[in-house]
Amino acid sequence: MASMLRLYNTLTREKAAFTPIDPTNVRMYACGPTVYDAAHIGNARPIIVFDLLFRLLRQLYGAPHVTYARNVTDVDDKINARAAERGISIRELTDGTLKAFHADIRELGVLMPEDVNVPGERPRFVEPRATDHIAEMHTIIAGLVTRGHAYVADGHVLFDVPSMPEYGALSKRPLDEMEAGARVEVAPYKRSPLDFVLWKPSKAGEPSWPSPCGIAEPGRPGWHIECSAMSWKHLGERFDIHAGGIDLIFPHHENEVAQSRCCFGTDVMADVWLHNGFLQVEGEKMSKSLGNFITIRDVLKDWPGEVARLAMLKTHYRQPIDWTLRGLEEAARMLDRWYGVVGDVAAAEAIPEGVREPLLDDLNTAAALAELHRLDEPAALKAGANLLGLLTQTKSARDQGTIRAAGVDVARVEALIADRRAARTAKDWAASDRIRDELLAMGVALKDGKDGTTWSVAT
Ligand code: AMP
Ligand code: ZN
Repeated sequence: MASMLRLYNTLTREKAAFTPIDPTNVRMYACGPTVYDAAHIGNARPIIVFDLLFRLLRQLYGAPHVTYARNVTDVDDKINARAAERGISIRELTDGTLKAFHADIRELGVLMPEDVNVPGERPRFVEPRATDHIAEMHTIIAGLVTRGHAYVADGHVLFDVPSMPEYGALSKRPLDEMEAGARVEVAPYKRSPLDFVLWKPSKAGEPSWPSPCGIAEPGRPGWHIECSAMSWKHLGERFDIHAGGIDLIFPHHENEVAQSRCCFGTDVMADVWLHNGFLQVEGEKMSKSLGNFITIRDVLKDWPGEVARLAMLKTHYRQPIDWTLRGLEEAARMLDRWYGVVGDVAAAEAIPEGVREPLLDDLNTAAALAELHRLDEPAALKAGANLLGLLTQTKSARDQGTIRAAGVDVARVEALIADRRAARTAKDWAASDRIRDELLAMGVALKDGKDGTTWSVAT
């Protein structure tokens, strides 16, 4: 019997067997990007890690039985400011940024909605946008006010934190500590310093929507309410897995839990909470001021997306990851070797146990990759790697891609190889060597074998 998936749950601080609420519709939600500017390589981590989980769940429960919602935050202070700066609407700004983000992550071998959704069937992968869910936010906000968990004050709607005794259960922060943290500059309209904004008035020039709860002035949502609205709309009041970066545990996820549970009167919002560790660059926190801020696009300028994906998966998702040049070089070497082994063979039907088992153990990618290293049977290696979203192309297709990326003129290479063959037949070794050097200068390496000469882009 196949072993079960085990996941480390931030809610319980324990690793436990995963049991879906409904195995015919396993539902996961991941907090996606805030699309105001190019995504950085840290943002790629949850995207890649939870893509792997989505693939694994599809493998375990069958592709039609898994639903994945990964949201897009398309309204917030940074977005509003950037759009105002450029004199465009937030929709124009976020459409452009989202398009670039999609192009970036597609190269990282991440499944996209169009890869998994079947026309005419219920979508299995949705990418909801906050501004398309204002109506759902209004419903939840109104529900919270009716149930006595939120109040209107000074054009705002605030969540009444003391009204929820279990507040803090996810982040395990003692209430007094949170209160002390929140006490800096408490807005006068708050009953408790911990209360957080569900809805607020828009400042002049900011985007705005009609307000809920009879507030006359138009306004805009607070940050947390969007994920309660989108997860409810697409996955229901209670669902299986909620994921995001570790920085989101408090306050974002804590507040999501408070909103959803208090509105729907449920004991849990999501059964399992997963959080990826942070990415740093060459041992330092990534930040614009340190000059080590790397966008996904920066990485893709120098490396194939598959190399970046593998470099990301070498570290267990809960550990901090150090993004280094050495790590990328190592990943590139591993992939070269594996492509050499698999060539153009098709993947085996069965996924090797040695790869599947560690992945089922809270996505132990390091152990799964170590097993891939040991596999020398091409079809098995390919099947195992495919589950990780690796080796998804044939060696020939990859070589072609490398050739295109290097801008090599294939017709000229073939002509020079023919000339060299003629020179060798005529025993004109000087000419043969000259041609080899010329090709090398073009970035093409030759290999003479018993079946003739093959070439590849020199690395
Ligand atoms: P943001 O665009 O800042 O809302 O972040 C989108 C996602 O990326 C969230 O799940 C964050 O937790 C995650 N994230 C942001 N920075 C990093 C980082 N340096 N390392 C890992 N994850 C990150
Ligand atoms: Zn969220």
